[in-house]
Amino acid sequence: MTDKPKCSERIFRDYTHYPCQHPAVVERDGKWYCKIHDPEYVKAKREEWAAKLQAQFAADKERYRRQIAETAACAGIPTEVLDDFVKEYLAACRKYP
Ligand SMILES: [Zn+2]
Repeated sequence: MTDKPKCSERIFRDYTHYPCQHPAVVERDGKWYCKIHDPEYVKAKREEWAAKLQAQFAADKERYRRQIAETAACAGIPTEVLDDFVKEYLAACRKYP
């Protein structure tokens, strides 16, 4: 029986680096890695994370753009007038489901 290779990644914990204890499942460039430290898996996860961040950034940017446009459009209008307008608008919306 041959020993299965261990993952070659090192884990930082308690201010020290420890070798990963998971069994290796894939070899990349002469080194063995477990499923979660496989460089291809890590790269895919990072790209997925970056895409998620980009989408969140775009959504935040659009939200801020709308808030700035709304604030500019409502400049000079008293808050009470805006509140009344919103109440009337919502009441009108309820009439036409
Ligand atoms: Zn590992």
